[in-house]
Parts: sequence; structure tokens; C-alpha cells
Amino acid sequence: MHITVLTLFPEMVIPFFTSSIMKRAVDKGIITYSIINFRDEAEGVHHKCDDIPYGGGAGMVIMPEPISKALDKIDAKGKRVVFPTPSGRLYDQDYAAELSKCDELIFICGHYEGLDQRVIDEYVTDEISIGDYVLSSGESASVVIIDALFRLIDGVIASESLEEESFSSHLLEYPQYTRPERYCNKSVPDVLLSGHHRHITQWRNDKRIEKTMHSRPDLLSDASLSVDERNRLLTILDKEDRRWILSEL
Ligand code: SAM
Repeated sequence: MHITVLTLFPEMVIPFFTSSIMKRAVDKGIITYSIINFRDEAEGVHHKCDDIPYGGGAGMVIMPEPISKALDKIDAKGKRVVFPTPSGRLYDQDYAAELSKCDELIFICGHYEGLDQRVIDEYVTDEISIGDYVLSSGESASVVIIDALFRLIDGVIASESLEEESFSSHLLEYPQYTRPERYCNKSVPDVLLSGHHRHITQWRNDKRIEKTMHSRPDLLSDASLSVDERNRLLTILDKEDRRWILSEL
């Protein structure tokens, strides 16, 4: 996959591509990337890229020309162009999986009050929100969106690591433990030390259901539970006198 990021602040994005798992994916040739500072396309000595909003109001808006010149240079029309914005479609694991199948993605990082609407109308295919809050920059939002999707591309991380992760099958992950066996007077659960694979799988499934029910009961309506898992859920709900939750799913 080729990822292009258009930004006024490349220094906020570069470290993500040169560190950790993304660096390995780039070294293996699974990901190629370009980071373009669209200030280079702006006119005048100061390469001004923002101006006051028509109609008045606070803050500055990113002007259309520098960014559209940068987009035209990479033939962006007809390609998947993402603009992270609080008013976009909410990002989730299914959306990340869909984007991970693209051969090329272009990200436009907004800043200040945002981007002139005409650029969005002309080029953007996906307006994406990463949550119901307002960040100061599209750089951090773009990195979040890219992070969630690139790790789903074949060869980036071992496929077993993805299988039982949070949101796979619409459940959250079970708790994880590592050495030492005792820490702060707390022991690792016996079943994980037993070496009994069937019991470990059963325990982890139960914990996934419990965790989802406590932290994100809204996910359970889409979870594909086996008969055993559904019975387990009913047992937990009965124990806590919360079977009413089912009528809301
Ligand atoms: N005036 C905008 C509004 O009220 O929707 C907020 C602009 S914000 C200060 C600057 C930039 O950060 C946005 O253009 C967008 O690119 C990015 N951003 C902020 N919050 C975001 C979110 N929840 N999801 C995705 N991008 C976000």
C-alpha cells in the first residue's frame, strides 16, 4: 500500500513512519509512503496557507489553492482521499479493515478551524471522525487512522495476533499476563499456568464476554456468540441481576 500524507507539519507525522511496527512494514516493502508539505505550493514570500473565514468567526481556515495544487501533482482525483474531521463518519475496526484493502490512500491533515469546503467537495472520498471530541490537528487523527488499518495488511503482524484482539467478533480482549508469576501480592490466574489448552481457551472466551458486557455492552448485539458463549453471558447477567440488558441489545 502507498500512503501519502499532506500536512503543514511533517514533523508530527514522520516519527510514526520511522518507528516500531510501521518502520518494519516499510523496511519489508509492505508500505511505501510520501509526506508532502503543501506549504511548498503556497504563493508569496511567506507561503501563507490559511486565511480568515468568510462570514466572520474565530480562527483561520486552510486555503484551497496550496492543497489542491499538491493533490493535482499526485493525481488525487479518482483515488481514495481521506480527510479526518470531527464531522465525519465514526471510525471503527470494520472501517479500518475496509481501508486496509486499498492499494493507495491519501490523507489531508486539517489544522486551525479546518479546510475550505470546496476542496473537500472536489477531492475527498472519506470524511472520518476518530471520536466525539475535538483535536487541534488532523496529523494526530491521520496517524490514528493509519495505525489501525496498516496492521491489518497481510504480513505486517502475525495473523494469530489479530484473531482474538478487541473488536474481532465484536468482543473485547481477555486480560493478559506475563512474568513474574507474582506481582504486588497478585498471582497469575492458575488456569494460565496449567498448560491445559482447552481450559485456557474457555477461560479467555469467558473473560472476553465478561469484559465486553461490563465495558461495552453495546457491542454484544453484533457479537457472533456460540450457544455455549451465549449461555455463559446469561449466567454472568443472572449473577449480577442484569438480564434486562438483553432487551436493550
Ligand atoms: N472547527 C472544527 C470543528 O468544529 O469540527 C474543528 C477543527 S480542529 C481544531 C482541527 C483539525 O483537527 C480538523 O480539521 C481535523 O482535521 C482534526 N480533528 C479534530 N478532531 C478530530 C476528530 N475527532 N476526528 C478526526 N479529525 C479531527
